[in-house]
Amino acid sequence: MKCDFDKLWLYLNNKLDSKAQMEILEHLSKCEVCCQAICQVARDHEADLFIQGRQKQNTGSQAPPESD
Ligand SMILES: [Zn+2]
Repeated sequence: MKCDFDKLWLYLNNKLDSKAQMEILEHLSKCEVCCQAICQVARDHEADLFIQGRQKQNTGSQAPPESD
């Protein structure tokens, strides 16, 4: 599998099925480029969530939908 940043982005947004997630995780374990990219994006993403969370404090926690 080659580097696929579109797929990485989908992975970060929980838009991939479990098979695709496994492919990403396997690729991440071997690919430093994607590993760093996903760390960077995850940091930015969490920062966004953190800022949004502070802005609307009454929202409470949102549990992600469970998938089997
Ligand atoms: Zn890669």
